[in-house]
Amino acid sequence: MSDTDLSRRELITLSATAGASLALGTLLPEEALAKKKVPQVPRRVLGKTKKKVPILLMGGSMNFDPVFDVRLAEAYRYGVNYIDTADCYAGGRSEVAVGNFHTRAKIREKLWITSKSDDHDPEGFARIFAKSLEKLRTSYIDLYFLHKLINPMFLTPALEKRVAKLKAAGKLRFFGFSCHGGNVAELLTHASKLPWIDAVMFRYNFRTYGEKALNKAMDAAHKAGIGLIAMKTQGAAASFKGRWEPFHKKDNYTVHQAVLKAVWADPRITAAVSAMDSLKKLRENIAAALNRTKLSQRETDELERYAKATRSLACDGCDHLCGSHVDGPVRIGDTMRYLMYHDVYGDTQEARRRFAMMPARAQSLEGYDFSAASAACPHQVDLVWHMERASRVLRG
Ligand code: SF4
Repeated sequence: MSDTDLSRRELITLSATAGASLALGTLLPEEALAKKKVPQVPRRVLGKTKKKVPILLMGGSMNFDPVFDVRLAEAYRYGVNYIDTADCYAGGRSEVAVGNFHTRAKIREKLWITSKSDDHDPEGFARIFAKSLEKLRTSYIDLYFLHKLINPMFLTPALEKRVAKLKAAGKLRFFGFSCHGGNVAELLTHASKLPWIDAVMFRYNFRTYGEKALNKAMDAAHKAGIGLIAMKTQGAAASFKGRWEPFHKKDNYTVHQAVLKAVWADPRITAAVSAMDSLKKLRENIAAALNRTKLSQRETDELERYAKATRSLACDGCDHLCGSHVDGPVRIGDTMRYLMYHDVYGDTQEARRRFAMMPARAQSLEGYDFSAASAACPHQVDLVWHMERASRVLRG
């Protein structure tokens, strides 16, 4: 059977399954599990944890989502038994939903749960971790991250001691951090020298896989046995109307699928996490994982074309390159990230909350000329357009 046939067949199967789930409304996990056997998403070893996890990971819901458990059950049926959540997602309700899901289905031991703390101070981290245990209704967490790490100085001996204590008490199996700012390469390099970092989840997609510094850092981390998990695999462009549509469907695959395959083609990457906030997206991603073959020339060409056409929409957070070209205390990297929460995650509340937490002077975007900053951006991100939008949509 050719790859094309497999992809088409899986899509049809998955389509039918998703329809049935929706018809049931709230499909119980145990009902989903009792359904006929389906192909399982392939698994890879997550670095020094030596544990095999699916190459596709279920991202937690950043917004309140009343049918999150329907998708969790459906993902689980296809072998996606790894759920990624965070203390802050949906104001804590994402963790609660995951806790209710596994309790109801009695499958805690069969699940891998990853969660995260926004608080990077050792005391605050321990406090948030305890809250996560409670909300997740579990006595242990498989993997816990410092969320959105931007400064390696937070990886202190005091934190290492806290982590060791939690591991010794059987409350935590593995530890690491997530990062997606402009210094991902620096953080990965730093982590590769710390034996107590088991895994890192970082921004990695078809736009970034050619970056020299990032690749060098990934090599070092991989060699040190750190499990590497890719996030933000789709880039931001998909959320901009009119930019994605011309590329969306090509023959028997979508560009979403090709983007995932591009990440899985890297043997250093264990898995890609995806929010999969609809059954359609879940279905597409599972079909891509089941059909994880080498990227075809056609898919590669298409990705290159797509990357070029949408490059000015995706910011990598490297504002040391553009910030000095604006005559004011604005924070381009942070502002672009909050815009992404608004545009890509649809989480206006969180985007505005974070924007409002910046110093008042950094929130004042009017009256500046961003054209020189745009010109300094190696990716030609259109900052004139983005900053004008930010000043409109990020103010509550
Ligand atoms: S606008 Fe460009 S230079 Fe500035 S942070 Fe974003 S990607 Fe980096």
